[in-house]
Amino acid sequence: MKYDHKSVEPKWQKIWEDKGVFHAETNSDKPKFYSLIEFPYPSGQGLHVGHPRPYTALDTVSRKRRLQGWNVLYPIGWDAFGLPTENYAIKNHIHPEIVTKNNIARFKKQIQSLGISFDWSREVNTTDPDYYKWTQWIFLQLFKHDLAYKKEMAVNWCTSCKCVLANEEVVNGVCERCGSEVVRRVKSQWMLRITKYADRLIDDLDLVDYPERVKLQQKNWIGRSYGAEVEFDTTAGDKLLIYTTRPDTLYGATYMVVSEQGQDRREARGRHRHQPRKRQRDTDLHLRLRPDLLRHRRYHGGTGSRYPRLGVREEI
Ligand SMILES: [Zn+2]
Repeated sequence: MKYDHKSVEPKWQKIWEDKGVFHAETNSDKPKFYSLIEFPYPSGQGLHVGHPRPYTALDTVSRKRRLQGWNVLYPIGWDAFGLPTENYAIKNHIHPEIVTKNNIARFKKQIQSLGISFDWSREVNTTDPDYYKWTQWIFLQLFKHDLAYKKEMAVNWCTSCKCVLANEEVVNGVCERCGSEVVRRVKSQWMLRITKYADRLIDDLDLVDYPERVKLQQKNWIGRSYGAEVEFDTTAGDKLLIYTTRPDTLYGATYMVVSEQGQDRREARGRHRHQPRKRQRDTDLHLRLRPDLLRHRRYHGGTGSRYPRLGVREEI
């Protein structure tokens, strides 16, 4: 018998959804199991193969757990705010709300045709005011607790998409998405002080059941390192603050390179006002070492280099 997927699959997919066989139960005595995928960004292009890959893997797990008697919550939703949609809307003179709605309808139809066992009764949409009032509330809490702040910084700017790109999205100096020129621009950005939680993010990895490979990626991304902050006197009479994990090589330093994006010196110094002032003067090299900060922790993950690079000639 020929398997006629065009008639068999939609028939059963409809019955599953009508009977709510994949819906999580409220107030159930069954043990709970939560499967969560990263919600897709609904673009105009529709699904690509990277979307169903994790959905299928967790679909298998979720179906097995249900058969084993678990109350499984496998939700789906749309991470639907985005500049590509905004740009598309501007270009085609269609309201972004309509573009988003159409994109979601397309994504939904495609995902449903795959028969993934999502609980569609709990569909989430980040552009729904009932949803984003909570993200706004969370932001206000972060702001009140001094965890959100504004900062001028140099960013990668795509001249065509008119949006900020992550370093990974810039390939050979052009935008990965559209191939247009990417320039550096100073823009005022909202930042979150995630570095405040860096120690916990690393230390608490011991408490979760993640593959070692993932734990290592996380540690490398956060980039905890131990080193010293050192102030150098410059010939202009001011100070240059550097960070190094190898203070023992300082005596070989012959020059400094300050990057274009480097934080200016006054700001770098201002940031450390609260730290101990105990210092040791080394007159010969015109540098001031701060041995008390030798075990000071620094985080480099995702923030770019804040410090001037220290030039060390290896042959001493
Ligand atoms: Zn672009």
